[in-house]
Amino acid sequence: MEIYLGDIFRPPSEAYSIILQVTTGCSYNKCTFCGMYKDKKFSVRPIKEIKEIIAFFKRKYPFVEKVFLADGDALSAPTDYLLEVLDVLKNTFPRLKKVSSYAGPKSLLNKKDEELKLLHDHGLNLLYLGLESGSDIILKNVQKGFTANEIITACHKAKSANFELSLTVISGLGGREHWEEHAIASAEVVSKINPHFLATLTLMLVPGTKLAKEVQENRFQMPSAKEILKELRMFLYNLNLTNTVFRSNHASNYLILKGTLNQDREKLIKILDDVINNEGVFYLRPEYLRRL
Ligand code: SF4
Repeated sequence: MEIYLGDIFRPPSEAYSIILQVTTGCSYNKCTFCGMYKDKKFSVRPIKEIKEIIAFFKRKYPFVEKVFLADGDALSAPTDYLLEVLDVLKNTFPRLKKVSSYAGPKSLLNKKDEELKLLHDHGLNLLYLGLESGSDIILKNVQKGFTANEIITACHKAKSANFELSLTVISGLGGREHWEEHAIASAEVVSKINPHFLATLTLMLVPGTKLAKEVQENRFQMPSAKEILKELRMFLYNLNLTNTVFRSNHASNYLILKGTLNQDREKLIKILDDVINNEGVFYLRPEYLRRL
């Protein structure tokens, strides 16, 4: 029995969770910047295999409290299948408090409201959704496959089903050409969604992706570290959120920032201003230490 098939990715906040790979790959797999699952075909792993893996985890870690369902878009698995997985998890780990997964806009839009509510009631509490950008120009350029309005609808669906929602925006995704558009449109869309959690990653060029080719052909200009921080400042400045936990602690980021928005916005902007205007005083993660 193989516990994991291929490389596994998880959000930073799932560092202490059991990673249960119920699906392999990404059901969409077309975003131009993403190389995470390029080597994998999307599949839903057989329930028998998943039950064996859960039994294995039970022997190794009997007091599991958090489980993350991988890979790229576990929510796209059939609802009955996911309900069975959630029930087995609940019955196996009495201390289980949180089950989370990535969720693409398509899987949220495809599931009926009642299905989402059932999944939540059976223990799936938190969904991570990559907004990437709130700009339709950029979403189109990176072939995200959805408009900002469609993603807003998907997110509202998740929130109506009582899920906690964690959104990700990728700093630098508009390149040098669209950085202002990216910052302002993303702030507008995130504000409309008002997620429970918000995280920023920073764009990294993955060899073999379409975006890497665009950079090679000079059709996309990668922003510098300082330009990324200026964009992040503009993004934060334009946000209008209520009690959103903000984390910019991903390994791809130049600067670690943490706070609750909008309460801590001025404090975060002050940190950014200090770094932007006085580079070197603060620790910026060097290029060679950045990773996905
Ligand atoms: S960014 Fe997400 S949706 Fe896009 S290809 Fe990668 S895993 Fe799939």
